[in-house]
Amino acid sequence: MDVSHNLEMIQATIQEACGKSKRSPKEINIIGVTKYVTIERTKEALQAGIEHLGENRQEGFMEKYEHFGKQATWHFIGSLQTRKVKEIIDKVDFIHSLDRLSLAKEIDKRSEKTVNCFVQVNVSGEESKHGMKPDQVVPFLEEISKYSKIKVVGLMTMAPHTDDEQVIRGVFRDLAELRNAIKEEHYQHAPCDFLSMGMSNDYHLAIEEGATHIRIGSKLVGS
Ligand SMILES: *Cc1c(COP(=O)(O)O)cnc(C)c1O
Repeated sequence: MDVSHNLEMIQATIQEACGKSKRSPKEINIIGVTKYVTIERTKEALQAGIEHLGENRQEGFMEKYEHFGKQATWHFIGSLQTRKVKEIIDKVDFIHSLDRLSLAKEIDKRSEKTVNCFVQVNVSGEESKHGMKPDQVVPFLEEISKYSKIKVVGLMTMAPHTDDEQVIRGVFRDLAELRNAIKEEHYQHAPCDFLSMGMSNDYHLAIEEGATHIRIGSKLVGS
């Protein structure tokens, strides 16, 4: 299917999920995840009107970035090795995988400007998932306030591997509640307005639970 057709279907689903949760579709940012696909297909996504692109590995990110440069807003969504920070830091617009102090320190050291980060949280507790435990997030935010180049714009999570919609929804809801608690702290360096949650199979649930950034690969550009 061409990307513009897929995008229309996704937009219809977004509309419906926003209707159910009394939200505006304008609040929802679609990140086209292009990790599975070619430059050609990525170009199709941009032509269809996708503005945000996401890659989960440094190599894939560099390949796409070198080709498209500032035509897109760039999201790094995969786990990030500390030693790879210097290669991507002046190119990414958002990092979705801030999950440890050593990474915060390296980002602060290597960047010349403020970096928009999401703190990745392992809400489901699955061993295979990256991210910090929910109760570690507030202490982490307090520790990183000394790293002046880091701005925590939101929280990110991955849904657990299950078909149980209630379980998935519960994870998204927990992340939203954590975000709300953080907002009440009014941290200067962590406004935490955004929630990066929801992928091809569960973005409708994520939107109903408050997602502002949905990361869609297979249903948008294919796999
Ligand atoms: C691959 C990936 C996605 C997109 O997955 P789909 O199920 O294909 O939509 C979203 N987020 C992260 C972190 C990913 O690695």
